Amino acid sequence: MQILENYRQAIQHPIFEFITEAAKQLQVDAYVIGGFVRDFILERGTAKDVDIVAVGSGIELALKVAELLPNKPKVQVFKTYGTAMLRYQDIEVEFVGARKESYTEDSRNPEVEEGTLQDDQNRRDFTINALAISLNANSLGVLLDPFDGVQDLQAKIIRTPLDPDITYSDDPLRMMRAIRFATQLNFTIESDSLSAITKNSERLKIITRERVMVEINKILEAPVPSVGFLHLERTGLLTQILPELTSLKGVEEVEGQKHKDNFYHTLEVVDNISENTDDVWLRWAALLHDIGKAPTKRFSKKVGWTFHNHEFVGSKMVYKLFKRSKLPLNNKMKFVQKMVLLSSRPIVLASEVTDSAIRRLVFDAGDDIESLMTLCEADITTKNPNKFKRYHSNFKLVRDKIKEVEERDRVRNFEPPISGETIMTTFDLKPCREIGQIKDHIKESILDGCIENNYEQAFELMLLKGKKLGLTPKL
Ligand code: ATP
Repeated sequence: MQILENYRQAIQHPIFEFITEAAKQLQVDAYVIGGFVRDFILERGTAKDVDIVAVGSGIELALKVAELLPNKPKVQVFKTYGTAMLRYQDIEVEFVGARKESYTEDSRNPEVEEGTLQDDQNRRDFTINALAISLNANSLGVLLDPFDGVQDLQAKIIRTPLDPDITYSDDPLRMMRAIRFATQLNFTIESDSLSAITKNSERLKIITRERVMVEINKILEAPVPSVGFLHLERTGLLTQILPELTSLKGVEEVEGQKHKDNFYHTLEVVDNISENTDDVWLRWAALLHDIGKAPTKRFSKKVGWTFHNHEFVGSKMVYKLFKRSKLPLNNKMKFVQKMVLLSSRPIVLASEVTDSAIRRLVFDAGDDIESLMTLCEADITTKNPNKFKRYHSNFKLVRDKIKEVEERDRVRNFEPPISGETIMTTFDLKPCREIGQIKDHIKESILDGCIENNYEQAFELMLLKGKKLGLTPKL
């Protein structure tokens, strides 16, 4: 934490000198505000996004800065929002005129009028995001902190500058942002804020799915994502965003038999996997790996609680969830589906490792086998230390076996050793069903370990299978 008398150190990048000069020439006041100041004080590394507020026209200031800069960068102007953006070296700078906002019931986009710096700080979401540093020659580097944001940074608190109830109701996206910052920074949300979020949670409906998902992704990318998901659940937001997850909550008991609470289990899995991967899609897979358990849950007197086929059902649910949430329906989604579908396979193997089962797993998982093993290891949430150790060492065996089988049999990204062409020429065939049958038989025999994955053995087998199908090789 850097708490200084004067924050000139924060504005060392050459861009700031040009902004100071441009502001002087236009005779407007300019300040760097928001995330850049917050992250400087928190020593989170130098931010590449800089927000500048001008008491006057932000667009004019941007144009003036561009004129003064040696490379005369292009300025992107967003007239409707009164903002402008330019890039200089590694920095992206956004300019806005200081404004006052007033909201209507059905929109998060306020009526805007010109205002003072104080007005502009009032419209900021959190005290820690309302900090501003002066870029004006006569007060260069002075910190303007009207809501004790620095104190909140020290105390690790998320608090709104004005009445939280109004702040969240005006722009419900702030509820998501509060939870996101609490998760990213490991901060506490001040209790009035938390109650206001709960009270206003239904207002989330006026926010577009895309914006909500940006925040969900940021929560999922944080070091301990469960912090955010627990807040989302407790405030009533999660059930509106990902009801598939809240359906997993709860423990049912029938005839003295209980199942585990799959919601809390899921969050543990997400936290576990986050220690081992930054891949947000693998983290999504962890978040969704058990969603099929709610619709497949059954109780039978003989075996107790079952979730038959939940992996398959879950992988089908992924598509609907992604579509509704406006997440990409591309190979990232397919990856998540595949992880959910295969999520129990290595667990079964851990109790009995056979070569052919390993070959089939590697064949089905392809290049995603590593990710799948990472997911399965994260899935171990038993609190029994002996079991924990045993499960992990079983997975170690599975990993060793995968390596061994892979080196020998090369079934990852399987390419058939005998092509359809070869089968057609050998038996003088036109395209027909038998070709598929022969290819399939060869593949299955390799996976079962009946033959090795090479041309010679596959050719032999092709002749045998062809004979069984009544085909004669052309001489
Ligand atoms: P990050 O880059 O990690 O998202 P940030 O604070 O820079 O953090 P931005 O979304 O770039 O986030 O917003 C810049 C600043 O604009 C914030 O620091 C805050 O002062 C203000 N701001 C952004 N969104 C809102 C909002 N919904 N309501 C009020 N102020 C906001």
